[in-house]
Amino acid sequence: MVANLGPGLAAALASAAAMTAIVGLRYLVTSGFFAWLTGRVRPGLYQGLGPQIGAEIRWSLLSAAIYGVPAGIVAWGWRERGWTRIYTDVHDWPLWWLPASLFAYLFLHDTWFYWTHRALHRPRLFVLAHAVHHASRPPTAWAAMSFHPIEALTGAVVVPALVFLVPIHVAVLGLVLLIMTVMGITNHMGWEMFPRRLIHSRPGGWLITASHHHRHHEQYRCNYGLYFRFWDRLCGTDRGLLAP
Ligand SMILES: [Zn+2]
Ligand SMILES: [Zn+2]
Repeated sequence: MVANLGPGLAAALASAAAMTAIVGLRYLVTSGFFAWLTGRVRPGLYQGLGPQIGAEIRWSLLSAAIYGVPAGIVAWGWRERGWTRIYTDVHDWPLWWLPASLFAYLFLHDTWFYWTHRALHRPRLFVLAHAVHHASRPPTAWAAMSFHPIEALTGAVVVPALVFLVPIHVAVLGLVLLIMTVMGITNHMGWEMFPRRLIHSRPGGWLITASHHHRHHEQYRCNYGLYFRFWDRLCGTDRGLLAP
């Protein structure tokens, strides 16, 4: 039993370490790209924010480890032990499930985020676990993963838990992670990259972009959502957009 567990455990830990490195690198490359883009599109926007950006990078790299460990262990279990409901043949489930599963993952993640985020704004939890994220005033492209470890843990468990519950094609899972990464960064980068026409359109009115999340960083007790404005609107916490 121990002999059996030994190599498996070592491989799972190696996968956790590798995933931590991947998440950390992904953060540095994508945040670095959008920070560079910000310098081109809004020169001087991050002027004088050097110390804040340093703190954002340190907290984000710590978060990368907290995200990488469960993701790495689940990835190992998927490859080696047949864990999870991730599938690789698109015909394992009806084709309509490909877009439906994308929406399901985003909606479930958004729901988890909205309610945990509201809890994190209760005074004691805020001081303990969420003040780190709000220390970014105004946030920058480097703040995407700038979380206290407790907050990082609440975010890190979502996708590794969902893959055990909701079937998803491996490519759609990649798309979920891409959307999660890009929106996490662009919602914090301090300017709106999406065209006004989309933001102010009817479907655009249900989506969260920088104009929506920026207001959360300005006013705190509103606009708690992650991808969609569904819960904010339903619960009366949506205060609309604020052009950053
Ligand atoms: Zn934020
Ligand atoms: Zn908040």
